Amino acid sequence: MVLAMSRHCSILYRTSCHRSDVMVVVDCVIRGGRIIDPKNGIDIIGDVAVHQDVIHSVGEGLQVTGKEEFNAEGCLVTPGLIDGHVHCYQYATPLGVNPDERCLSRGVTTIVDAGSAGSSTFLGLRKFIAERSKTRVLCYLHIAAHGLAAAGCASGAPGGESDCLNQLDVKACRDVLEQNRDIIIGVKARLSESITNQGENEQEVYRRAMEVGRQCRVPTMIHHTLSSIPTQGSAGDRRLCCPRDMAPGDIYTHTYHGFPSTIIDPETGDILNDVIEARKRGVLFELGHGQGSFSWTVAEMCAKKSFWPDIIGTDLHSGNLDGPVYDLPRVMTKLLHLGMPLYDVIAAVTVNTANAIGRGSDLGSLSPGMEADVTVLKIEEIDRDLDDSQAQTRRVRQWIAPIAVWRKGNRHEITEPKQIPNKEAMKLNAMDWPNLLIKDSNPPSVLQNQ
Ligand SMILES: [Zn+2]
Repeated sequence: MVLAMSRHCSILYRTSCHRSDVMVVVDCVIRGGRIIDPKNGIDIIGDVAVHQDVIHSVGEGLQVTGKEEFNAEGCLVTPGLIDGHVHCYQYATPLGVNPDERCLSRGVTTIVDAGSAGSSTFLGLRKFIAERSKTRVLCYLHIAAHGLAAAGCASGAPGGESDCLNQLDVKACRDVLEQNRDIIIGVKARLSESITNQGENEQEVYRRAMEVGRQCRVPTMIHHTLSSIPTQGSAGDRRLCCPRDMAPGDIYTHTYHGFPSTIIDPETGDILNDVIEARKRGVLFELGHGQGSFSWTVAEMCAKKSFWPDIIGTDLHSGNLDGPVYDLPRVMTKLLHLGMPLYDVIAAVTVNTANAIGRGSDLGSLSPGMEADVTVLKIEEIDRDLDDSQAQTRRVRQWIAPIAVWRKGNRHEITEPKQIPNKEAMKLNAMDWPNLLIKDSNPPSVLQNQ
C-alpha cells in the first residue's frame, strides 16, 4: 500500500494499489511536480493520477501507470485555476472575451463572469457561452436587467447600466437567479458615479443588489471605484457606505485601485479602518485587476500590511487582455512579486474562490473523486517590466507561466501572450495616470519618453 501524508498530516491519501505487484492503469499520471492543494493542506513533491474524468489519487511515488505520463518535475501542480472575475459574454457585450482561448489556454479551468449578464440577457450567456465552452463558466447576475450590454460603448463618455433605476428590478434578478443556481453564484453591482446617473442612483443600486443577495443567500460582488459612496464611513452618517455595509461573505472587488474610492487613506498611506473592520467581519476582498484597477503603488502599501486579496480575479475583458492583465498566471505573478506567499497565491485562485462562491464541495481541490481539473505551472526566471493599470512598471525577476492544463480529464493546449509588456496598451493606459489619487512620485516611463 502506498500512502502519502499531507503537509499538515490532516489528510491521508492511499492509492488503490494494495499489492505492489499489481499495477493499476489509469488514463494519466502527472509525475514528480510540487503539488499545492490548499484545500487539503497538501504541499508535497508527488504525483496526481487522473482516470475517467476524475482525480484518482494524489501522493508521493504513486504505484499507478498512466496511459499518458506527464513529467511535471520542476513544476507546480495545482487544482484547475479559478478566475473569480472575468467578462466572457463575447459578442453580446463589448467587454466579452472567449473563455477557451483566453482562460482555459492559460491554465484556468473555471471562470466566474462578473455581471456581464442581467436578468433579461442571462439566457444568452447560458446558451451561447456557458453551454458551449470547454471552460466551466459560472457567473454573478448583474442587478441591472441588461447587465453590461452597453458597457464600453460610450468610448469614455459618461453613461452606464445603472443610469435608469427602472432597469434594476429586484424580483426579476431574484427569479432568474433562483431558476439558474447551477450557474449563477451571486449578484453584481457597479458603484461608480459615471454609470449611475452621476451618482444619483448609487445608494439605490447598492441597496437593491444587496437585497437580492440577502434574499437568495448568495454573495454580492461590489465594484467600488470613483464612487459617491464613502469607503470610510463617518459616525452618524446614515447613508450606505462601502465596504462598511456589506455583509459577511460579500465580495469587494478592485481592491488595489488608486482612484478616488481607494481603500488607502491618501493623507496617511494607511488602509482605511472600515476596510480592516470589513475583513474582520468576513467581507472578502477580490483583486479585480482590470484595465484600471491595479496600482503597483497601492498594492505595495497593502503588501506592507500583508493585506492580500482573498481571491485573485483578473477582471479580464476585451480592453485589457493584451495588457495590462494578459492572463491569470501573469496576475498571480504580480502578487508573488509583492511578497504574497506562493501557497496563499494558489489558495486565492482555487479553494478561496470556490468557497466564496459556494462551490467548495466540488471545485478548487485535487480531492480523489473530484472532476479532474488540473493545472501545471512553472516559476520561470525572467527579467522584464510588468505594467500596472496606468503603465507604472516594476522589474520582475520571475513569473508564473502555464505549462499544461486538464479540464475534466481532457488536456488542452496552452498559448502564450503575444507581448509582455505591451507598449501600445501602456501608452493608452498611462493617460489615466494624472487622475490617480495614489500613485508613484514619477510619471510612468511611457509618459516621460513622449
Ligand atoms: Zn469586471
